[in-house]
Amino acid sequence: MSKYKAVIGLEMHCELKSNSKVFSSAKNAYSDIPNSYVSPVDLGFPGILPTVNKESVREALMMALAFNCETPEYMYFDRKNYYYPDLPKGYQITQMHSPVGVNGKIVINLGDSEKEVLIHDIHLEEDTASLDHYSDATLINYNRAGVPLLELVTEPCLNSPEEAVAFLEYVRRCYQYCDVSDADTKMGQIRCDVNVSIMADGDSHLGTKVEIKNVNSFSNVYDTIAYEIARQTKLKDEGRYDEVEQETRRFDEETGTTIRMRSKVDAIDYKYFVEPNIPKYKISKDWLEEIKKSIPMLPRERKLKYINDYGLSLYDANIIIKDKDYANYFEECIQLGMDPKTVANYLTVQIIAYLNKEDITLKDFYLKPEYLKQIITEVNNGNISSKQAKEIFNKSLEEKKEPKTFITKDNAQISDAGELTKIITDILANNQEQIDAYHNGKSNLFDYFVGQVMKETRGKANPNIVKEILNDKLK
Ligand code: ADP
Ligand code: MG
Repeated sequence: MSKYKAVIGLEMHCELKSNSKVFSSAKNAYSDIPNSYVSPVDLGFPGILPTVNKESVREALMMALAFNCETPEYMYFDRKNYYYPDLPKGYQITQMHSPVGVNGKIVINLGDSEKEVLIHDIHLEEDTASLDHYSDATLINYNRAGVPLLELVTEPCLNSPEEAVAFLEYVRRCYQYCDVSDADTKMGQIRCDVNVSIMADGDSHLGTKVEIKNVNSFSNVYDTIAYEIARQTKLKDEGRYDEVEQETRRFDEETGTTIRMRSKVDAIDYKYFVEPNIPKYKISKDWLEEIKKSIPMLPRERKLKYINDYGLSLYDANIIIKDKDYANYFEECIQLGMDPKTVANYLTVQIIAYLNKEDITLKDFYLKPEYLKQIITEVNNGNISSKQAKEIFNKSLEEKKEPKTFITKDNAQISDAGELTKIITDILANNQEQIDAYHNGKSNLFDYFVGQVMKETRGKANPNIVKEILNDKLK
């Protein structure tokens, strides 16, 4: 057991979806052609004036409300001044004095337990351009300059790399559920600054923190934190207290270590001031109410509903809420009147296995809820066996034809008791010898009779009904 406790605070940046950029009319999209979606506003030409994208403000407010934050009465922005090649204006428009959300909280899942993570603030800002480094040159692509960016800052209340990653995954999912971002780390849509300190058992104040800038994947966040905890622990164990310094570092993927960039005493003074080109404006109560109403049910609430109302296991519920598309598919099935547990079973086993095998998403999955319903209904009515259901499931996907096209009279299961009684009576009439042996104690001959019925019906007899009738007849 380590005698230190790790303390972690995250600054999570997420690019928001919208048609145009947050302060200009240039397109907010990816392009293979660098510098194709750029307006003079994004480049900071003299005389330009920013205009606020209402959609970005709506999305930012939506997430602030979803994460239980207090929202401000007035919306305005600040200028953060610094020079860097990816920042053509020489300043970033952001929110420092009055973020869209403060004092929020998010409850996340940690295995079987839950944890409340406190949110310091959420603010709306613009992304920078992206830099492509080559051995002898660096190229600048301004397509990303001015893309709306939502920054969420937690309180220092996470205590392990596992907790940090669980938090990031949960928040990413919330962005996807609310449809404000694809939140795709592979596309660089999510980037984090990770703050790590350690404190000795019994310490009453937080230790000196190190900030690791711009970590671009969740597995790197994990490795960064694990490395920093080990590094700081070693320094303290060796008594080198003054070497645990407030500094900015970066994560080096190749070595899995963090590398010092600068000390906090050399910190840049951003000379923040209120952005003078964007008038302060009031957020109307009606609009806020409208946004609040439009927040869809978040993954944690859905999980609780699936368990409490639909009787799913925590395990199944967790699989289904992992992906917004799974959850929506599941709920559509319930709305069509299907049994939740049966649907959960199909979804978590057969459907997900198929999606993985074919490397597709539910959007491209042929068996829409109403088609799955055709299969489940036939099983419930006793017209097809579960084995046949599986075959029809596969056939329907293979040939891209509705399941009902494969449910013909020819392969339908025989569940009609009258019809089966007739078949069984005929078979028994021709097997007097076996009946006698059965009554004399050869009880395993029961399966022989079932087998005869199956043979006669080419496997289509409903086995449960066959057994019932046989039991009755052989009394
Ligand atoms: P700064 O002034 O360096 O920007 P802030 O107080 O604004 O620091 O916090 C920035 C981030 O660092 C927040 O996510 C916060 O939770 C985290 N943080 C603050 N103090 C600590 C600490 N002692 N250990 C770990 N994280 C911390
Ligand atoms: Mg800060």
